[in-house]
Amino acid sequence: MRILITGGAGFLGSHLCDKLIAQDHDVVCLDNLFTGSKANIAHLLGNPKFEFVRHDVIDPFKFEVDQIYNLACPASPPHYQFNPIKTTKTSVMGAINCLGLAKRLKARVFQASTSEVYGDPSVHPQPESYWGNVNPIGKRSCYDEGKRCAETLFFDYHRENKVDIRIVRIFNTYGPRMHPNDGRVVSNFIVQALKGVDLTIYGDGQQTRSFCYVDDLLEGFVRLMEQTETVGPVNIGNPGEFTMLELAEQVLKLTKSKSKIIHKPLPTDDPRQRRPDITLAKKYLKWEPKVQLNEGLKRTIAYFKTKV
Ligand code: NAD
Ligand code: UDP
Repeated sequence: MRILITGGAGFLGSHLCDKLIAQDHDVVCLDNLFTGSKANIAHLLGNPKFEFVRHDVIDPFKFEVDQIYNLACPASPPHYQFNPIKTTKTSVMGAINCLGLAKRLKARVFQASTSEVYGDPSVHPQPESYWGNVNPIGKRSCYDEGKRCAETLFFDYHRENKVDIRIVRIFNTYGPRMHPNDGRVVSNFIVQALKGVDLTIYGDGQQTRSFCYVDDLLEGFVRLMEQTETVGPVNIGNPGEFTMLELAEQVLKLTKSKSKIIHKPLPTDDPRQRRPDITLAKKYLKWEPKVQLNEGLKRTIAYFKTKV
């Protein structure tokens, strides 16, 4: 197949380019390089199965493709809050442009949604049936509400125009090619530990997250795209749940770093807890994560050692 990946030069997108090319597909990677980089796809640039197009998803585009994966959107809080209006436009207009193209081509189209649609959840762990607890006017809203609106658009195109959609709700994912200054917790802690500077825990460190290794996540993406039993939304994430304090301690141990842990103010609307209910992924995709945090951190630390 010929497959379009928006946001294909980012952390997840570049791994997805690799995976689909390894499965012998042709890939068109569309990206405006806001948070992604040519370095992430440099190894693919001479490959005849790969094309890079520098373009913004908020502007219409046309390609003749069989499938579309829509990943374009900054994902780390400092990046998506840098220009919040642009973030909402990216999610909403990017979705409309992908769906319009999919409608014309009769192509299957995939949306990278997020556990942020659950906001600061009052149901734990979070099943797909939970509607969430999202602040519509806070600093995270540009991302959370943009992604929620994108899901709405996907379902309306599906109901009104029979567009063949798939939606995945991604829980915190980490691995090689995260940007060292990305601002997300796993990359921050690893870079800080390797540099020997203080690890910055926001708040008391008792908030929890569930961390999925990138290879596991992408296997879930492709399985969702390949099956026809459900359009989603399907949670993909690792149900192992850790406090940020536990994560910091694990990173210090694995890097053998002498860095200290310090505390900084908790950002507003920072969710207290998050863990995916992956019953649907197990049922429809026969998917569950294989790489546990300890192993995934070791692989990610090995990558950052070459960058820091
Ligand atoms: P990333 O920032 O590394 O990748 C996003 C990519 O989209 C970058 O290459 C960026 O340049 C590109 N982009 C941003 N705005 C664009 C625009 N207007 N036009 C074209 N390209 C644009 O982040 P990531 O972690 O790889 O996330 C990929 C997708 O997965 C995002 O949609 C994100 O919301 C979603 N997601 C990721 C996580 C995670 O933990 N990594 C969790 C939930 C959801
Ligand atoms: N966090 C932290 N130190 C950092 C970066 C983040 O303690 O240097 C916290 C953050 O406040 C949040 C958790 O780690 O509670 C996960 O943050 P991240 O930005 O990675 O993802 P998200 O909040 O979107 O899940």
